[in-house]
Amino acid sequence: MCLQALPQGDGVPGQVSGRLTAEILQRSIAGERIHEAEALHLFEMAALPDLSLAAMAWRNWHNDPSKVSYVVDRNVNYTDICNVYCTFCAFYHRPGDSRGYVLTREQLQQKAEETLALGGSGFLLQGGVNPDLPWDYYLNLIRFLHHDLGIWVHGFSPVEIQMMAKLSGQSLLKTLGDLRDAGLGSIPGGGAEILVERIRTRIAPLKGGPDRWLEVMDAAHEVGFRTTGTMMYGIGETLAERVEHFRVLREQQDRANARNNGGGHTAFAAWPFQSGNTVWAGKIPKPTDVEYLRTISIARIYLDNFTHMQSSWVTMGRKIGQLALHYGCDDMGSLMLEENVVSATGTCYSVNRDEMNRMIRGAGFEPWQRDNVYGLAEMG
Ligand code: SF4
Repeated sequence: MCLQALPQGDGVPGQVSGRLTAEILQRSIAGERIHEAEALHLFEMAALPDLSLAAMAWRNWHNDPSKVSYVVDRNVNYTDICNVYCTFCAFYHRPGDSRGYVLTREQLQQKAEETLALGGSGFLLQGGVNPDLPWDYYLNLIRFLHHDLGIWVHGFSPVEIQMMAKLSGQSLLKTLGDLRDAGLGSIPGGGAEILVERIRTRIAPLKGGPDRWLEVMDAAHEVGFRTTGTMMYGIGETLAERVEHFRVLREQQDRANARNNGGGHTAFAAWPFQSGNTVWAGKIPKPTDVEYLRTISIARIYLDNFTHMQSSWVTMGRKIGQLALHYGCDDMGSLMLEENVVSATGTCYSVNRDEMNRMIRGAGFEPWQRDNVYGLAEMG
């Protein structure tokens, strides 16, 4: 797989790769790490089919070229009460709002039983940052789900873990160690959005800057947790800021790999901001499908130390989700037995297992069901 010949001239931005673009892609296809300026150049200049070639080369070095994975799990939001008030979020209720909820044990148990009965392996468990729940609540919640009900808990985004550290009066390392001992399995990378100060101040001022997200993930890796890296783009960032987001993730993954203790990011996922039902509705142009494919393929090329890339079919729809498998993705993420956060914006797709298998085969790959950390799922 390679670009056949170096094109002459400068090319046409985004349509015909010029000589410099082709040189960068050829070096990438040969296994060389690209730099930030080169990633930005690809965003601005590379033709989409050429990005696919390089992205698929990296995808196939890291993964079986013939296979695509997915996980059967459930997106459980244990509470929607939150005092962080992100301007892009259509999901939360303020503390004191009678419409807010905290799931009961009975509701959690029912969701767990349904998930296991469908051959699912776990919960993607996230909530708002609910100031009314004590530290013990989280430890007991995990013990209940993991030890009593047999659910793998892929849980808590960094902003929730920061709040838990504050509640417990402990360091991040000790807090994460307690969560692990209680049965927390792995940690999702939700809430990264764009890891650039200017953007976070604009869309989530109470969440803290990029360092807050990164310090939780570094501590999680130090404890040995496997996590995911994410990006929500199309929220007013520049292409250079998207590359900056990639840079801090790649550096973090280098740090994790150097520790060699089993901790680190298993996968990267990117999705476009869905502005429906938020204060940004109608004010920010929706990123196009082509922009999604460009973004995910450049992520695959740049994030050379990530093993897996997830296709975001839940936000992009089935067809673009399938197409993303030819732009560097090797994983379809979750079947989405339940989804509340994206669906609050009015954009959410879901499928059953047969449909997922058909989607993957239809795109030319063999499906396999994984667990939450990319092992082969144990089927009940
Ligand atoms: S995105 Fe998360 S932290 Fe932000 S308001 Fe929504 S629930 Fe709260």
